Amino acid sequence: MIKTNDMFYAKSSDTEIAEAGEYGGAVTTLLKFLLEEGIVDAVLAVDSSADLYDVVPVLIEDPEDMVKVAGSLHFGTLNMANIINRYLDGAQDMKIAVTVKPCDAMTLVELIKRENVNQDNIIMVGLNCGGTIPPVKGRQMLEEFYELDPDSAIKEKIAKGKLIVETEDGTEKEVPIDELEDEGFGRRGNCRRCEVNIPRMADLACGNWGVIGPMAGKATFIEVCSPKGAEILEKAKEAGVIELEDPIPQGIEIREKIDNAMVKLADKWQNNDWEDKSGREIFSVLTEYMDDFARCLKCYGCRESCPICYCENCTLEADNGPDWLSKGEIPPSPMFHLERMLHMVESCTNCGQCEDVCPGDIPLAKIWHEVNTKIKITFGYVKGTGEEKPPIAYFPMGK
Ligand SMILES: Cc1cc2nc3c(=O)[nH]c(=O)nc-3n(C[C@H](O)[C@H](O)[C@H](O)COP(=O)(O)OP(=O)(O)OC[C@H]3O[C@@H](n4cnc5c(N)ncnc54)[C@H](O)[C@@H]3O)c2cc1C
Ligand code: SF4
Ligand code: SF4
Ligand code: SF4
Repeated sequence: MIKTNDMFYAKSSDTEIAEAGEYGGAVTTLLKFLLEEGIVDAVLAVDSSADLYDVVPVLIEDPEDMVKVAGSLHFGTLNMANIINRYLDGAQDMKIAVTVKPCDAMTLVELIKRENVNQDNIIMVGLNCGGTIPPVKGRQMLEEFYELDPDSAIKEKIAKGKLIVETEDGTEKEVPIDELEDEGFGRRGNCRRCEVNIPRMADLACGNWGVIGPMAGKATFIEVCSPKGAEILEKAKEAGVIELEDPIPQGIEIREKIDNAMVKLADKWQNNDWEDKSGREIFSVLTEYMDDFARCLKCYGCRESCPICYCENCTLEADNGPDWLSKGEIPPSPMFHLERMLHMVESCTNCGQCEDVCPGDIPLAKIWHEVNTKIKITFGYVKGTGEEKPPIAYFPMGK
């Protein structure tokens, strides 16, 4: 019987899915199987829309549609937890399987703890993640560094520290990610600092790291992370839709080494982005960014895009908070940010949504990630994992 912590090389038994999938299509096959068996009502995954840079969430109910969304989209910067919470009623009445990067999975865990998402109705199929690329800057990057028309790109992948782009005529061009990032391109700022690459808080963690030997490039490495994950993998194996093999021991070591190297790289970026990673007080962090906060247009984009900002009666609204207008501004900086910080920062998963949308170019994810790290040091609370409740401003908002 398959159990938590087991590891496998996995690939689809279906040739069409195996070819369409990024690394053997195990994820697509599992999701299709869950729909076919009625274990879930719908799958939340992502697809490219107008082009490769236009990555959108899709809710799939017909198992035959699963193959259409196979493959990894590195311009997919969206947060899946936000979509479940805001648009799918926190999975209160619908069983949903969802593909999750670590920041999506961690956010779902925080929303489950805050009673906004129904854990019983969610299956998290985790994808390892080394980073996502902002779409608009990504197009610019292709012009400048790859000397390519961005519209000619049909596929992108990350391998051996390089971003490889394939064009319509079958040619591939690659540039080391370090080189791109030294010039201010490459992965989003929050992704560079991200220290969680393998989503062990999900039910399964799937990725290409560690697949070596004859299966290299043709299978996915699956780590089973929960009894729920073990059960669905067992059922899919028994049904014959997925082929599982024991991983090569050296592959397990390689996977761990790459993960450690990525964590070190994230550490380097944290040291680069934050003035003093462990020593300074939260107050000093905030003081440093007062000029940035002053650029705030009060568009409320950060609040709308933040998966942890979910209160129906937000105190930043005229009807619910103090009389902001009497203070001459609606609502004044930095109060707007400090208020939001108090409500969400201990659960901030560095998902980057706030910074992505901010028209004032305020480095919001960088600020809140640093404050969250101080909270971790002070209270020992690690966001996005376990069952421990957030220690400061825990407002469960049961739907
Ligand atoms: C942005 C990104 C970065 C990754 N980085 C790494 C890495 O550094 N190391 C590693 O070992 N593995 C990484 N992976 C995982 C790897 O690329 C494969 O997704 C995994 O091995 C599963 O392969 P598969 O053939 O079984 O998946 P498939 O059968 O191709 O299914 C993939 C599923 O993922 C969904 N999906 C695609 N893009 C996204 C997205 N941006 N957000 C959420 N869901 C998405 C698709 O809708 C599809 O349902 C990454 C994946 C993504 C999306
Ligand atoms: S924050 Fe981390 S998990 Fe999320 S997209 Fe970036 S690298 Fe991936
Ligand atoms: S504050 Fe920003 S980075 Fe943190 S959870 Fe909210 S949107 Fe994500
Ligand atoms: S997104 Fe930026 S400009 Fe808009 S309210 Fe938030 S901090 Fe202010």
